[in-house]
Amino acid sequence: MEISVARKRLEEMRDDLDRTVMVLQGEHPLARGGISEAGDAGANLTEADRNQAAVQAALEQRVEVMAALARMDSGSYGQCADCAHEIPAPRLEARPTTTRCVPCQSKRDRRRR
Ligand SMILES: [Zn+2]
Repeated sequence: MEISVARKRLEEMRDDLDRTVMVLQGEHPLARGGISEAGDAGANLTEADRNQAAVQAALEQRVEVMAALARMDSGSYGQCADCAHEIPAPRLEARPTTTRCVPCQSKRDRRRR
């Protein structure tokens, strides 16, 4: 995949995420109040909580997108962060923000659980 194509896709993702966050925050002004108190979370997510979670997820994804763009600027985009091998193009196309090749990623995922 051409790096310029990848960059364009990432920039589009970033713009999409910006819009998503704006829409979500606009839809539920009450969610602005911030994080709800940590109590028995999970069981009964309110609308605002779900909204907050969606905003959070979008912001986290945006961080990944921005990191990928930064890696492009520094020339390390498409390189596995663990083994430094090139990440196969199909994987990058499927997940432009990925930082690891499949074997390294699955190793990490296993370790985390
Ligand atoms: Zn690797």
